[in-house]
Amino acid sequence: MTEILSPEKDSVEVVRQWTTERGIELAIFDLDDTLIETNHVVGEWFDKALCMVNAKMPDGKDIKEVKIKFKEEQGKLYDRYHNHPRIWGEVFKHLRYLGGYEFIDDDLLARLEAHFAELYHMAPALVSGASEVVTSFKNAKVPMCVLTHSNPAYAMGKVWRHETLRPLLGNIYPVDPSIEKGVFALKALLTDRKVDPKKTVYIGDSLRNDVIPAHQVGINEIFWINKGKEWPPVGGEVVPNGVHKIAGIWELIDAMKAQIGM
Ligand SMILES: [Mg+2]
Repeated sequence: MTEILSPEKDSVEVVRQWTTERGIELAIFDLDDTLIETNHVVGEWFDKALCMVNAKMPDGKDIKEVKIKFKEEQGKLYDRYHNHPRIWGEVFKHLRYLGGYEFIDDDLLARLEAHFAELYHMAPALVSGASEVVTSFKNAKVPMCVLTHSNPAYAMGKVWRHETLRPLLGNIYPVDPSIEKGVFALKALLTDRKVDPKKTVYIGDSLRNDVIPAHQVGINEIFWINKGKEWPPVGGEVVPNGVHKIAGIWELIDAMKAQIGM
C-alpha cells in the first residue's frame, strides 16, 4: 500500500531526497524578489513620492522631467545609500540643487524622507511559496543562508518580520551595497561556511548578481527565478548551461520533484 503523504510532508521528502542525491550541504538564497517582494513595492513607493512632489509643482514644470532626473540621480547615489532611507532625501536634494527645483523645499524633503523611511521599516509580503520552501529545507535539515545586497539592518529587519523566515536569522550574509554582489562575496560566504561549491545549491532572481557569480564560483545546482521570461542581457550576459529556470520560488519544490522522478 502506498503511503499517502500530506503536501507538507511530501515537500520535506522532496527536498531531503533531492539534496541527498546531489550531496548538497548548503542552500543559498537571495532575499529581495526571491523570498520577499521588493521591486514592485519600491515602485509603488516611488509613485507615491512623485505624487507628493507633483502636488507642489509650479505651473510649467512637468512631473515627467522630475521622474527622469529622479531616475538618473537615484542611479548615481544608489551605491552609496542603497536600501537606506537617506538615499531618497539625498536624491531629492540633488534634484533641488542641480535641477533648480526650488519648490522641493526642506519641508517636502523631510516628508519624502519620512515616506521612504516607512518603506525601509515595513515588511514587504513574502513571495508566494517562500514559506513552504524555507520550512521544507528546515525540516529536511538542510542548512540555509541568505546572501543579500543590502545593509545588515535592512536584511535582518526584513527576515525577522516574517516568522517563517526566522530560521534564516543568524545565517544572513549582507554584501556591502558599495561592493558588487558577485564572486568575491560568494567566495567569502563559502569560505566562512567551509563548504565546497559543488555541495551547494543557489536560488536567486538576478542573472547578473546571483546566477552568473554562482556559476563562476563553481556551483552546479543553480535555480534562476526568471519570472517566466528571459531577461534582456544588460551587459551581454548569457545564461550559463545547466541552470534550472523557474518562474518563482513557488515552483522550486515541483522542479526538484520532477528531477528526482517523484
Ligand atoms: Mg533579488
